Amino acid sequence: MKLERHAIIKGVIFCETGLRIGGSNDDIEIGGNDNPIIRNPVTDLPYIPGSSLKGRMRSLLELKHSAITQQTGKPCDCGQCNICKIFGTHGTHKARESVLGPTRIIVRDAFLTSESVKELKAANQEKGIYYTEVKHENLVDRKTGKAEHPRPNERVPAGSKFDFEIVLRIFENDNENAALNLIREGLSLVQKEYLGGSGSRGYGKVRFINTTIDGVPFVLEEGK
Ligand SMILES: [Zn+2]
Repeated sequence: MKLERHAIIKGVIFCETGLRIGGSNDDIEIGGNDNPIIRNPVTDLPYIPGSSLKGRMRSLLELKHSAITQQTGKPCDCGQCNICKIFGTHGTHKARESVLGPTRIIVRDAFLTSESVKELKAANQEKGIYYTEVKHENLVDRKTGKAEHPRPNERVPAGSKFDFEIVLRIFENDNENAALNLIREGLSLVQKEYLGGSGSRGYGKVRFINTTIDGVPFVLEEGK
């Protein structure tokens, strides 16, 4: 298969509500937040792993288009559809790679824009917020109305922005438009739903702004 070119989609992920992508709490000291978000270990700045955005796009596309997912609730592994082709085959079906060829999409980790780093640093100095906010949530006893089991949830505050980049590898005989439409639809579905955890409780509403493809505007929804 001949690799013809790469189409580069870039833009900014704007968090309309707090965003929570969970990290590991292995190295959290006693008394610290037991529910941390993922951070760059060197800079301590929160980021959005490419796998989170890719996985969310894929699962929403599968819910919409894959009969396998709709019946089993599991990821599509048909090895034939455009989702399998563009997002890659699952580990158990390596043999199908010879038919589909390599994964077409590369989703980079998304880092805070320099503007957001500045803003969050300022908030850190003024209010002691460590680039994030901690939201306490609890269960409410239905009979007594009393709040129980308070649990701190760390999240990136609303208004934060991350630079994102998606690379589409276009091979000879690939249908570039179909692939781009799938990416467009995947991003637009994430926008309609959420990214990260606790979406049903209001977290993770994002908007993809200033989106471009190879430097020219990449409109997510037709007619807009
Ligand atoms: Zn499939």
